[in-house]
Amino acid sequence: MKTLDDLVAELDGDPTKGRRVFVRADLNVPLDGQRITDDGRIRASVPTVARLRDAGARIVVAAHLGRPKPGADNSKYSLAPVAARLGELLGTEVPLEPLGDDARTTVERLPAGEVVLLENIRFDPRETSKDEAERTALARELADLVGPEGVFVSDGFGVVHRKQASVYDIARELPAYAGGLVQTEVEVLRKLTQDPQRPYAVVLGGSKVSDKLLVIESLLPQVDSLLVGGGMCFTFLAAQGHGVGDSLLEEDQIANCGRLLESGKIVLPVDVVVADDFSAEATTRTVPVEKIPDGWKGLDIGPESVAAFAQVLASAKTVFWNGPMGVFELAPFAEGTRGVAQAIIDTTRGGGDGTPGFSVVGGGDSAAAVRALGLPEDGFSHISTGGGASLEYLEGKVLPGLAVLEESP
Ligand code: ADP
Ligand code: MG
Repeated sequence: MKTLDDLVAELDGDPTKGRRVFVRADLNVPLDGQRITDDGRIRASVPTVARLRDAGARIVVAAHLGRPKPGADNSKYSLAPVAARLGELLGTEVPLEPLGDDARTTVERLPAGEVVLLENIRFDPRETSKDEAERTALARELADLVGPEGVFVSDGFGVVHRKQASVYDIARELPAYAGGLVQTEVEVLRKLTQDPQRPYAVVLGGSKVSDKLLVIESLLPQVDSLLVGGGMCFTFLAAQGHGVGDSLLEEDQIANCGRLLESGKIVLPVDVVVADDFSAEATTRTVPVEKIPDGWKGLDIGPESVAAFAQVLASAKTVFWNGPMGVFELAPFAEGTRGVAQAIIDTTRGGGDGTPGFSVVGGGDSAAAVRALGLPEDGFSHISTGGGASLEYLEGKVLPGLAVLEESP
């Protein structure tokens, strides 16, 4: 893979200066109306863009926000708040341009070292089309923006598992480079897959039960223990014969979960916080997993589970964590996530035997939980910007957005 270092060296040695660079970033941040509630992904994208500015490039950034629907009013998916925040962080104005003639004019006139952000690339349905010809047509329009001398920098790690026009197809139209963020993420994940320091513990939670069962399947042979919390633990508890009340449950996966339990590596909660309603005002109780009452929902792991998980984590030397242990967005169900996150931080700083461990947080909501709960981001070795992408990498899948960079001449 060619890297940002390679590109910067080329730009520095280029007498004409000011080449145009098309950067795909991941700026898909959570919004509350126009307010960005967590700008982690924007901050993570700044170093690559800043380096290109210093090298005198003229920079076109493309990104998506959410999942706009064709024909609907998609104004809430505008990248306007993101353009403003990106500009603040870069210390320059970042104009936002919808794809089209105006964008072309803006890019043509862009001074060296300046940046333009294209409006939500998913407003164009060809971005995510299954039809390669449609995607290629969009990719060619995007490539045209940066002209015959233009190059592509792939820095949206959170989307490299997607075969999409601004991620994959454009890398076949232009000389392609891995951005600094993509490079860092890949180096970290490689460390997890190639000879991790043992014991290696993985903590999985969150709500995407059936998605993550596949991950569990492929991770089990590689790890020493796999701690399961969050919404998906209930399908495992059901496989052990426990009633789970109104908790999240995927009935068609119970048999699968039972089979995975035979590995002997899966650690499940021993107690859970149940609620009579999915709300911060609900009545709650902490019960052993054998006694989840009918009609109640399990929304967090309990304190004894946190202690049991922390004990496993204390002796681990490598930890990967994806998915919150409970509905951390609501205060009564945040303690499981806080406790497990703290145990991972303790291990990172020097666990049972005082030697520092290596820890990676993957997953948009897990990373957001770290910040929302006021935990120190530098307590972990690395916080990944890509949930789905990091999971697919760990599963050993080929990520199209990375493979295409390796093929770039
Ligand atoms: P990530 O983005 O880190 O990969 P997911 O998107 O899979 O994580 O899941 C995050 C969501 O899972 C959070 O919004 C959280 O509220 C929810 N969640 C966690 N535990 C439970 C539970 N017991 N019941 C329902 N939802 C849960
Ligand atoms: Mg998520």
